[in-house]
Amino acid sequence: MLSKLCPHSRTETVASLSPEFFISRGIRGLIIDLDNTLVAWGKYKITREMRAWVQTMLASGLKICILSNAVEHRVRFFGELLDIPWISRATKPRKNSFKRAMEILQTIPEETAVIGDQLFTDIFGGNRMALYTIWTAPISPQELISTKAMRYLERLVQKSFRNKEIFE
Ligand SMILES: [Mg+2]
Repeated sequence: MLSKLCPHSRTETVASLSPEFFISRGIRGLIIDLDNTLVAWGKYKITREMRAWVQTMLASGLKICILSNAVEHRVRFFGELLDIPWISRATKPRKNSFKRAMEILQTIPEETAVIGDQLFTDIFGGNRMALYTIWTAPISPQELISTKAMRYLERLVQKSFRNKEIFE
């Protein structure tokens, strides 16, 4: 269980991930979480920096699909704004939603990365499917009360990662 919670990589912000980071690892498709990964939780705004990041990825030939547990109108708003496919009410970490995203991306697990801010949904779900998982720091301190409770558990789990290279 613990190993399934450990991401392959970690970043302070998604914007710092270059196309080369993915291409050099043989990754062609990105499954990206919405709230506090791509945009601030609950806000109907995306920063210029993140919008440019999406454009750079697409221009480099990478495909992107938003995978979010949030309600449809919210996920649709950003999918249409960025002109990328999206899946709402995804019930991460269940496997089905990740399979659906890979169908849309037309990738196999070895070619697919998951980017998200939550260990128990994004990272655990991605690792279960043998995808390349990237854990990002949340964009905003605002989030659901239930998510805040999970952060406490994340910190406990994170302690067990200390001996891993990415957390040094
Ligand atoms: Mg999130």
